Amino acid sequence: MAITRFAPSPTGYLHIGGLRTALYSYLWARKTKGTFRLRIEDTDTQRNNEAAMDAILEAFDWVGLSYDGTVEYQSKRLDIYKKYIQQLLDEGKAYYCYMSKEELDALREKQMANKETPRYDGTWRPEVDKTLPEIPQGVEPVVRIKSPNEGIITFIDGVRSVMNFDCAEVDDFVIARSNGMPTYNFVVTIDDALMNMTDVIRGDDHLTNTAKQIVIYEALGFDVPKFYHVPMINNPQGKKLSKRDGALDVMDYKRKGYLPEALLNFLVRLGWSNGDQEIFSMEEMLELFNPENINKSASSYNEEKLLWLNAHYIKNVSNDRLAKELEFFDCHLNGHDKKEMLLDLCKERAQTLIELKEAIEKILKVPTEYEVKGTKKFVKENTIKILESYVQILEENKDKLHLACDYELITKPFIEEFELKFPQLFQPIRIALTGGTQAPSVYDIMAILGIEEVKSRLNSAIN
Ligand code: GLU
Repeated sequence: MAITRFAPSPTGYLHIGGLRTALYSYLWARKTKGTFRLRIEDTDTQRNNEAAMDAILEAFDWVGLSYDGTVEYQSKRLDIYKKYIQQLLDEGKAYYCYMSKEELDALREKQMANKETPRYDGTWRPEVDKTLPEIPQGVEPVVRIKSPNEGIITFIDGVRSVMNFDCAEVDDFVIARSNGMPTYNFVVTIDDALMNMTDVIRGDDHLTNTAKQIVIYEALGFDVPKFYHVPMINNPQGKKLSKRDGALDVMDYKRKGYLPEALLNFLVRLGWSNGDQEIFSMEEMLELFNPENINKSASSYNEEKLLWLNAHYIKNVSNDRLAKELEFFDCHLNGHDKKEMLLDLCKERAQTLIELKEAIEKILKVPTEYEVKGTKKFVKENTIKILESYVQILEENKDKLHLACDYELITKPFIEEFELKFPQLFQPIRIALTGGTQAPSVYDIMAILGIEEVKSRLNSAIN
């Protein structure tokens, strides 16, 4: 039974990389019948905003990831963090440091000039037989934790196996700022420990934070959870994914006409695999996902693949569902008597809901103009004559014309009689009915429009 969490900092929208770690954490908790928590890391009050918090919740809602219990807000847990800071101070595992910003800057410059990695030099770290400097006037101290001076900080990462950090790389870092506010690594550790996290799945940009957090776990005697650091998502050129490569905000995918199923399927594969399987329903993800199989190397973002998955899900979800999703794009099919036919026809070629809406509107909308290129190519000298005769045939058979196959039945002999090639008849009909030559089967379009509308559009085009 895994207890996992997603812990976004609400500094902007929900990024697709964030959604991917949320999905992995969600799948692992649900698969093991455990618990999945949502925790908003909002202690950095200057960078937080309410809209961003709402955006995260909205994105969760859209993709259908549910979390257990209530959302935790770190900003409401300050007393808890302060209590643990005090405990570490009382136990001598943390100490006040009065080094001013200027002194710290000077230290850093000196270390850099000596080609050393900048690190706090332990001036205020209490040691046996060490005399600390005199406490300066007017300096509010920070609190630093005593990191081990030597040895190795080690943990097993579920993705990369054993991770070792030389203690020299981890200095006595700040756990509370001079205004008393606890720092990021401190609050994450306290929360993960108090919320009994068994598995922490997050981006590998947090690897060095994990080393620091282990210092805190050990100082407080908390059990260390299992960590899985997920490699980054790169663009197809192998660079860090940026806005230029596509949308980053999860809700942009909704606006671009993606189904959440497609996005989740895309994200589960972006960094995890099960043989060469590409399509995963939520049930299959739950059955097959295991964080131990997360890829070790960065994954490459490929929008073509997302489109391909989206086309798959558009074809495979129910028409009722599609109709519901199309409402967002101001395309209202509920109550339309040809809803099923329209969707059955148009979903076959649509890669996004926007393309689906456009294909539907192209059929439903009476054309006000006709595509010039198609008209030049397909409307020849005798085309008007052919169309007139065709309208006549339609008129003679109008009581029999309901389904696509009814239209086919009368059209085939017509083509033979006039010794036509299919495009000679179909392309002018397409132009007359939809204004262009890019449209699905004319039989289907005619069945959807109904005989009277077909005649009316053909007659308007003829005249
Ligand atoms: N709040 C951190 C972030 O948004 C995540 C921290 C974590 O998962 O431990 O990157």
